This record gives sequence, C-alpha cells and structure tokens, in this order.
Amino acid sequence: MKNELDELLCKRYPKIFRDRNAPMAETCMCWGFECGDGWFNIIDQLCANIQHHIDWKQQQKEKYGRGDGCTQVVAVQVKEKFGTLRFYTEGGDAEIYGMIRMAESMSAVTCEECGSPGSTRGRGWIYTACDAHTKEEHKDDQ
Ligand SMILES: [Zn+2]
Repeated sequence: MKNELDELLCKRYPKIFRDRNAPMAETCMCWGFECGDGWFNIIDQLCANIQHHIDWKQQQKEKYGRGDGCTQVVAVQVKEKFGTLRFYTEGGDAEIYGMIRMAESMSAVTCEECGSPGSTRGRGWIYTACDAHTKEEHKDDQ
C-alpha cells in the first residue's frame, strides 16, 4: 500500500495501529499494510467500526457500569493471503471478530489494485481483481 494511505490509516486509528513502527521482533506491523491500495476503504471502514465499538463499550462500562467494556484492539499484521485480506489482531470481542470476517470476505469481491468490484483469479498464485486488472492469461478462467 502506498505511503500516504498507510500514514492516513495510522493517523485515523492511532490506537489500532499503535505498533505500526514497533520493532519486527514485536510485531509484523513493521512491514506496513501488505496489500494493494484497492483495499484501503475496506480497512478504513473496518477500523472505524472497530474503534467505535470499543469506545462505545468502554463508555457504557465507565459511565453507566454496563457490561465489561472491551479491550483495545491492536493490529499485529495486515496482509493479502490467497487473494484475500487477513487482518490479525490482539484484543477484541465476538462482534469485532465478526467485523473482521466481513471485511475479509469483502476483499474477495474487491479489486486489490483499484477497489472496483472484482473476483478471485489465477491458479497457484491467487489474487482478486476487476476485469481491467486481471492478467491476460487469466481472462478466460471465469
Ligand atoms: Zn481493478
């Protein structure tokens, strides 16, 4: 992912991407977002929903004594694998795991290059692309 989008995510979600520049012995986030720019919106929306959920759960607990709150989610690795997004974290609850699964499934129908609707292509090396970003040799696969 290009630098400006990487920086934007870190700026918008400093708690989730707290370890973005931590040493590699501690986190895989030191490698940055190991996927294409086309998935920026998916990650952006995922993180907005995650942080909102955490803040709301914490507020419920602290202000009204309702529920157990929610630990802060910290991303440990964000990458592409077998054509789809993988968003690995520490912390979170069942609702957050559901959000992550939803985001990962959206990546399977979103071009990793440009964000247009797409599908999973290729054999062996699998990737998700729109028609325009599908390699010539994979165009007849579908
Ligand atoms: Zn595309």
